[in-house]
Amino acid sequence: MQEKGEVNTDIPNSNRKEVWLTEYGPGNTAISLRVKYKLFEKETPYQKIEIFESYDYGRVMALDGFIMLTEKDEFIYHEMIAHVPLFTHPEPKHVLVIGGGDGGAVREILKHKTIKKVELVAIDEEVVKTSKIYFPNLASYLDDERVEINFQDGIEFVKSKRGIYDIILIDSPDPIGPAVGLFEESFYKDAFASLNDSGIIVAQSESPFVFPDLIKRIFLIFKRYFPIVHFYIANVPTYASGVISFILGSKKFDPIKDFYPDRVKNFAPTLKYYNEKVHLASFALPNFFIDLLK
Ligand code: SAM
Repeated sequence: MQEKGEVNTDIPNSNRKEVWLTEYGPGNTAISLRVKYKLFEKETPYQKIEIFESYDYGRVMALDGFIMLTEKDEFIYHEMIAHVPLFTHPEPKHVLVIGGGDGGAVREILKHKTIKKVELVAIDEEVVKTSKIYFPNLASYLDDERVEINFQDGIEFVKSKRGIYDIILIDSPDPIGPAVGLFEESFYKDAFASLNDSGIIVAQSESPFVFPDLIKRIFLIFKRYFPIVHFYIANVPTYASGVISFILGSKKFDPIKDFYPDRVKNFAPTLKYYNEKVHLASFALPNFFIDLLK
């Protein structure tokens, strides 16, 4: 069984010649999208970048065969990783994004008028270049004057940062290749220290169906550093199991107790997924998820 995704053309027991992008596993589950053609492919020192035109989800970015985003559902992930912490913090000004080379999280952050500076730390410059060409609706905001891009390893970057950021977003792929260390305690410890005294961190923490042990491990790490720790979830159709979780660690502000729905109601920019009810509902975890954390 392949660990990575692949493009296969031969449809079992049929002579239909179709092209399907299939993301395998982990485990014995796969996601398949029928694609019209491949638009781009490049092996970089860090990973394989592929861009496809799919029938049902528009353009698709895959890294090492894993689906990172599709034009049709990327708004869900990007709105939830950004707006939940940004509407928890009373006046976010300085934000650090680690990973996120596609630009989607930065696009959402810049919708907040209080933002003065966004630092994006992406290990692979080719992801940013490719996203600017094939996903301008995401990446064009990376040229905003408030955005500073560093092409380096986020794990190294935070080692030298202390007490700076209002918010840190870890917009990483799955724990493979250069991203493995982004799920380790030493990195989270440095990220914690890089936040100022009222700082908030959010990391994508995978699916509870696919990575239950990872979620439990990250929870125990965050509990060691942050007085306030919550998971929240969202549905992303093209991610493994269709559910993605996020872990939020906060030094001062609670995303439920210190959340002011009116700020969202009066928020001018239109959002397609996130609203004040979704914010609160996303923290209502199902029992099996709660049991994972015991
Ligand atoms: N939303 C996607 C997901 O949930 O799978 C992640 C999208 S984003 C494209 C992931 C980015 O993280 C990629 O641009 C990748 O190059 C970058 N990345 C991986 N490891 C990194 C590291 N150690 N430091 C900084 N960026 C990293």
